[in-house]
Amino acid sequence: MLKNYIAPRLKPFVEVLSDNKKIYFFKRPGVAITLEDETGFIFSICKLMDGVKNLDELCRNLALSHPNETPYLIDLLRVLDNELLLEDIARHDSENLTEYDVLRWSRNIEFFGAYTNALTNKYSLQKKIKSTKVVLLGLGGVGSHILHSLAALGVETFRIIDFDKVELSNLNRQILYNESDVGKLKTRVAKKRLLQFSPHANIKIFNEKISCIENIERMVDGQDIVISAADQPRDKIIDWVNAACIKKNVPFLCGALDSKWAIYYTVIPGKTGCIECWKTKAKKTGLIFQDVMNQQGFIAASALGCQI
Ligand SMILES: [Zn+2]
Repeated sequence: MLKNYIAPRLKPFVEVLSDNKKIYFFKRPGVAITLEDETGFIFSICKLMDGVKNLDELCRNLALSHPNETPYLIDLLRVLDNELLLEDIARHDSENLTEYDVLRWSRNIEFFGAYTNALTNKYSLQKKIKSTKVVLLGLGGVGSHILHSLAALGVETFRIIDFDKVELSNLNRQILYNESDVGKLKTRVAKKRLLQFSPHANIKIFNEKISCIENIERMVDGQDIVISAADQPRDKIIDWVNAACIKKNVPFLCGALDSKWAIYYTVIPGKTGCIECWKTKAKKTGLIFQDVMNQQGFIAASALGCQI
């Protein structure tokens, strides 16, 4: 059943201008949504909506000036809502978030509010981030930035995996470490630094060199998403992550980059194809690729139980 509005209003940053039987809504400078407003009905609604009056009250008020058009109130609200112009503050319930959470992530929550429709609780999106369990493989140049950014976004539960120690040459890009950390395990330093930044975080560390699919299966089991920023062993790690995540039914994001290119992609078991699906297809079409895969040890997608 379609949910309905409780006490809608225009989002605070939306500016409205009525001119020559048209109404303009400005969401950002220079970008306007224009609607025909022959009778001033839409403009009247915009003036009446205050986030306090419910639909009945809006209808009663509108009936005084626009009795014939009042039945179209809901249709018009849907049009405005589809343009992300409306909010319904009664739906913005911050339950399950603490006062601290609401303050700490207030800018995120405002951002969600700007890009969601009126029937979505903007706080629930932050709550979803807060409760997401992330596995991060690799704490190098890419991984250290991802870890910091996810913590800044509000993720609080991590499993972080790396076997390396901090080196002086890491410090041009690996933002979690200082010169005083050189020689220390990256996982331990990263956890310490992250807890200073996000004291409520729950971080489990694995000081392990990944050596097989089973290693990864154990790490990803029961988690929500895996991000692979590991690059060792170079010709195996992505295949292992793929096989483990397909088996454990955990979505993952992985890729690689060097100084001239980057490629990243997401695999959702059961919904998207996986890496072996892609190889299966490529193997049928390219002889060179076939040779490369034969050298690397190709695993057929069907052998992983991938149904795509
Ligand atoms: Zn597949």
